[in-house]
Amino acid sequence: MDTSSVTAEGSACISERQNSILTTGKSKSSIHCADDSLAGSVSQRACVFCGARVVLNPVTDAAHLVHGPIGCATYTWDIRGSLSSGSEMYRNSFSTDMKERDVVFGGEKKLATCIDEIMGKYNPPAIFVYSTCVSGMIGDDIIAVCKAASERHATDIIPVESSGFLSGNKVVGYRAAAIALMQLIKPREGDTVKKTWKLNFLGEYNLGGEKWVVERYLREIGIEINVAFTGDSTVAALKQAPGAYLNLVQCTGSMHWVAMSLEQEFGTPYLDVNFFGAANTAESLRKIAQFYGDAGMIRRTEALIEHEQARIQPVLQKYRKKLAGKRAAIYVGGAFKAVAIIRQLKELGMEIVLTGTQTGKKEEYDNLSTLLDPGTIIIDDANPAELEKFLLEKNVDVMAGGVKERVLAYKLGIGFVDHNHDRKDGLAGFDGAVRFAREVYVTTCTPVWSQLKATGRRG
Ligand code: SF4
Repeated sequence: MDTSSVTAEGSACISERQNSILTTGKSKSSIHCADDSLAGSVSQRACVFCGARVVLNPVTDAAHLVHGPIGCATYTWDIRGSLSSGSEMYRNSFSTDMKERDVVFGGEKKLATCIDEIMGKYNPPAIFVYSTCVSGMIGDDIIAVCKAASERHATDIIPVESSGFLSGNKVVGYRAAAIALMQLIKPREGDTVKKTWKLNFLGEYNLGGEKWVVERYLREIGIEINVAFTGDSTVAALKQAPGAYLNLVQCTGSMHWVAMSLEQEFGTPYLDVNFFGAANTAESLRKIAQFYGDAGMIRRTEALIEHEQARIQPVLQKYRKKLAGKRAAIYVGGAFKAVAIIRQLKELGMEIVLTGTQTGKKEEYDNLSTLLDPGTIIIDDANPAELEKFLLEKNVDVMAGGVKERVLAYKLGIGFVDHNHDRKDGLAGFDGAVRFAREVYVTTCTPVWSQLKATGRRG
C-alpha cells in the first residue's frame, strides 16, 4: 500500500482512498462508497456483529446471546441509549464465552447449553443468537442449534449471522439483523394479524426516549404507532408489524431493506421521514398527514407545527446569534443523520466544511452534496488520520460525531457534539432541536478552546 500523502483533489493520506474523498464544486466523478473498508486504513467503522447488535438490542424483552469469545460481548446492552417502558431484559448481556477448547472441539454444545440456561432462568419470548468471527470461522452451525432449541422450548430462538469477518462494512450486520427481524415477525400457521390504521416506525431506536416524543406528536394529530423497529419494542408487538397501514423509515441504512421486505410480503407502503431538527420534524409530520389524506389530521398537524415553532424559534434565535459563521464538521454512521445535522447547523447560521458517513450510499451522497456549499469536503468511511488532517486544514470549531470522533476532536482542541447511537439525551423533535443547539453552543463557545489557542496547545 502506498501511504505517501497525495496532493490530488481528494487529498487522502492513503492514495487508494482518494476516490472516497471529494470536494463539492471541484470533483467531477462520484464518491467511491458502500464498499468494504480498505485493509490497513483503520476505518472508524465497527464490525458486522456490532451492526447487527445496534439494530436488535433495543427489543426490550428479548435476550441477546453472543456466541463468541467474551471480548465480542463488549458490544453490550449499552450499545444503544434506548429506553424501555416495560421489560428490562435487553439490559442483560449474555455470552457463550468461547475458549480455546471450544475453538478446537466446536462450540455448538456450549451454545445449546447457554440457550437452555437462559430459558430456564429468564424464559424470554425470544433469544437472538449472534455469530461472531470465532464461531463463524470454526463453522459452528448456529442455524441448526437455534432450530433445535426453538423446537425444544417452543419459542423463537433466532440466529443472527453476523460474524465480524463477513465484510468490511457494518451494513452487512444491519442486513443480518433485518433478516432476523423478518424471521421473527413472519406469521406462523394459525397466527392472526389484525389490519389497523396505525403505522410502524422503522429505524427509530428510542435513544433518550425519542420514540416517545414522536409518538406524542402523532397522537396529537390522530395516529398511533403500532410498533417501532426496534426502540421500546417487544417481541409480541413486532409480530403485529404486518398489520400496519404505513411504515415510516428514519434510519434508512438499517431499515430500508426491512421496509421493502414488508412492502413485498404484506403490501405495506413506506415513507422516509426524519425527526431531527425543527424543519425536518415539520416536513415529516406534513408528509404523514398528507399520506393519510384526512382534512382534520392535516389541520391538526399545521396547528401543532405552528405552536411548536412559535415556542422554540426565539430560543434558537439566541443560539443563532452566538454560532453564526462558526465552522462545523460532521462524521456520523448513516446519511439520514448527516442530512439532519447539516440542516440544523445551517439553520444556526454555521458553515459546514466537512461531512462524512460510515455507511452512506451513492444516491445519499448525491443528495448530501446538494445541501453543501462549494469547497466542502465529503468523505466516506474515514480513518482518524484523514479526519485529523481535514479538521485542522479546515480550521473547524465544532464536530458532530460518534464515540470514536469525540476523542479526536478534544485532542485537537475542537468542540464536540455527541450524535452517536449510545447517547442518552434525546435530540428528536422540536425540543430536541433546542437541546442540540444548546449542546453545539456550549461546546463551541466554551472559553477553554481560546485558552488552549493562547497557550499554543490547540491542534
Ligand atoms: S465479531 Fe469479530 S470483529 Fe466483531 S468484536 Fe468479535 S472478534 Fe471483533
